[in-house]
Amino acid sequence: MDLYEYQARDLFEKHGVPVLGGIVADTPDAAAEAAEKLATPLVVVKAQVKTGGRGKAGGVKLARSPQEARAAAAEILGMDIKGHTVKRVLVAEGADIAAEYYFSIVLDRAERRLLAMCSREGGVEIEQLASEHPEALAHITVDPSIGLDEAKAQEIVSAAGFSDEDGERVARVLPELWRVYRDEDATLVEVNPLVLTGDGRVLALDGKVSLDDNARFRQDHHAELADDSAVDPLELRARELGLNYVKLDGTVGVIGNGAGLVMSTLDVVSYAGQKPANFLDIGGGASAQVMANGLEVILSDPQVRSVFVNIFGGITACDQVANGILGALAELGESAHSPLVVRLDGNGVEEGRRILSEAGHPLVHVVETMDDAAVLAARLAAGNEA
Ligand code: GDP
Ligand code: MN
Repeated sequence: MDLYEYQARDLFEKHGVPVLGGIVADTPDAAAEAAEKLATPLVVVKAQVKTGGRGKAGGVKLARSPQEARAAAAEILGMDIKGHTVKRVLVAEGADIAAEYYFSIVLDRAERRLLAMCSREGGVEIEQLASEHPEALAHITVDPSIGLDEAKAQEIVSAAGFSDEDGERVARVLPELWRVYRDEDATLVEVNPLVLTGDGRVLALDGKVSLDDNARFRQDHHAELADDSAVDPLELRARELGLNYVKLDGTVGVIGNGAGLVMSTLDVVSYAGQKPANFLDIGGGASAQVMANGLEVILSDPQVRSVFVNIFGGITACDQVANGILGALAELGESAHSPLVVRLDGNGVEEGRRILSEAGHPLVHVVETMDDAAVLAARLAAGNEA
């Protein structure tokens, strides 16, 4: 999960990284109020979007009064920056910048190590620096079991070519940024610019942090940082229901048990000439409730024209699944409207098929093979097109 700049700023502050005060605002008036509260001669109004290059796009403006902050926010709010609409700005204390540096710690998956990068030339986009002046960007490996200690910080600032005095100032901040990386289970902590102020302080002025979602179980507060407004509403609903669902852009809804089977189901639907509407793996214990939850999510997708239920009976036998499907349809009632093509195989297949054919539900079509089921599901979706 990538964080907004203001969230990164908060995490920096929490771990002792020097930052300047900042207040988030979502209207020009709120921005003026924030500037008033900060009460510094200079404030910076910055677009909060999860993309870089805001400065270049006009999304970072200096303001010398609450009135100027209001005007800056009015310009920035609603702006489109690389396809991201600005809904909020961060009104931050202005810094008196003497120099702009760059620093980051990133997980290098391919090398199975951590990489610290540092440059005396910050502010600019780092990809540009790396390609045009690779020598200006120091790369130093960090052993995760040791971490970025004082000695490593020294090594990094020396490699970046800082003078003794500036290097010492910068080196003091690096172990604190390392604590953000380690204690928050981040995969990226980037500061650009890390600035030296006129009065000799080193401050993290703009931060980018990515958190490792696999660490959610031990980072309770990370859930609050998630920005659900950017997540597909169907995926959000599926997540609430504990379903393993990914929205796709086709018309054939897909439910299967086991990720491998679902993946091949997506393939056969494509071979049959229609695109799958989703990936949904209901796992081994395909109970009526899980089936109902899955169908609810799939049928609330307005693009869905037919549903392919592809189950291989294992520990949960096909007869239980068949009862699950009927239970789900009963539970959904009127809201179930698309035809269901059901292919059952494996444990309890005869009994499962018998239960479905005896029920004779008008929406359910039982088909023996996976390929035939895909063809029928595709045909129903095509014929069902609005
Ligand atoms: P980015 O373009 O998305 O990386 O946005 P940044 O927050 O890094 O800001 C871009 C540039 O705006 C910085 O590199 C600075 O040159 C300038 N800037 C940002 N904050 C301040 C500030 O407090 N004072 C001054 N003088 N310039 C700032
Ligand atoms: Mn920046």
